[in-house]
Amino acid sequence: MRGRNLRGELDAFLDGSEQELIGFRRDLHMHPELAFAEYRTTQRIAERLTAAGLTPSVLPRGTGLICEVGSGDGPTVALRADIDALPVPDEKDVPYSSTVPGVCHACGHDVHTTILLGTSLFLARQAEAGLLPGRVRLIFQPAEELPGGALEVMAAGGISGVDRIFGLHCDPRVDVGKVGLKTGPITSACDKVFIRVSGPGGHTARPHLTADLVFALAKILTELPAALSRRVDPRSSLSLVWGRVEAGSVANAIPDEGLAEGTVRCLDEQAWHAAPDMIKTLLESVAGAYGVEARMDYVRGVPPVVNDEVSVQMLAEAAGGVLGEGSAEPTQQSLGGEDFGWYLESIPGAFARLGTRTPGAANLGGDIHQGTFDVDEACIATGVRFMAATALTALWEGRRPSATEPVAGIAIA
Ligand SMILES: [Zn+2]
Ligand SMILES: [Zn+2]
Repeated sequence: MRGRNLRGELDAFLDGSEQELIGFRRDLHMHPELAFAEYRTTQRIAERLTAAGLTPSVLPRGTGLICEVGSGDGPTVALRADIDALPVPDEKDVPYSSTVPGVCHACGHDVHTTILLGTSLFLARQAEAGLLPGRVRLIFQPAEELPGGALEVMAAGGISGVDRIFGLHCDPRVDVGKVGLKTGPITSACDKVFIRVSGPGGHTARPHLTADLVFALAKILTELPAALSRRVDPRSSLSLVWGRVEAGSVANAIPDEGLAEGTVRCLDEQAWHAAPDMIKTLLESVAGAYGVEARMDYVRGVPPVVNDEVSVQMLAEAAGGVLGEGSAEPTQQSLGGEDFGWYLESIPGAFARLGTRTPGAANLGGDIHQGTFDVDEACIATGVRFMAATALTALWEGRRPSATEPVAGIAIA
């Protein structure tokens, strides 16, 4: 690798492929498909990979696919893209607007998919030329937005034997040509909690002969978030916020049932794992004090994406090598969720933000998850360079006999 002109090889590949990739992205953008319904998208990716001599295999549920490039000894590095769209109407006036009413690639997954396709085609050429020092597993994951597609990939053995995994996400706050990196948590957990309290009910004149359910529910609503804030490390930013409360029907009757629903957001993985048990214990103690029964349903969302330090170094090195000095900038942890976190619970890896804003221009179309969201399509070539260099960096460094040896990196001629 040292002395090889990776930058030049990528230039040559993109000279011949960038327009095709932009066309591929626009085709996906015009035909967005929701989570676990990405049949056409899956077929389009599979066709292009097959035409390049690769052998993709579709996941058991029929959408999403996995494909491996390279063979023989050496480490296995996975690159993941998500392929699903959102139930958001496309509000853009562009030639490639969505043709599906109410559905749009408002999270940029069409861009992620296209970048991984381009990276696959480049790596396939590298493998043919005998330049791939290991295997790269390409994961085109369905249903990130549901979420749950990552679990589907894992259930199908998608990350077994993988040493390290990488992914990226469009970021309209970062200029195209740049990437945002962060060690440690980069996204957050978001779960839902459903609480149902019950008691005998009765007349409001005689609360002492029954259980004052509305009072008890009010205590639960205020005590749970308050107690939680004193039971977990404040740095974890664990927050329980109620979104819906319901009890009773008339002023002078104590109801026999009430409910509360809310979200639990958390920046820290350990606190996220401990949250359900802690909330349940607190709930039981408050409910018990007022003589009502309480039941909790805790619905897990996604864990925070926690970036491994060594993997982030590889991303930084790849960016420095093929995007230029200063192309990697620090980014902040977002309160959004991303199901890439499931992979990082099992194997090391890192998730990067990819700049999609035209430098100097006003934000193209607002934030992700809005019907006006669009990208500067130069980000596709940037993404291909970045992902390909990351995979090669991780393969080469994964082959190092000793972890104490200095990092070799990619020499740019
Ligand atoms: Zn999204
Ligand atoms: Zn997304």
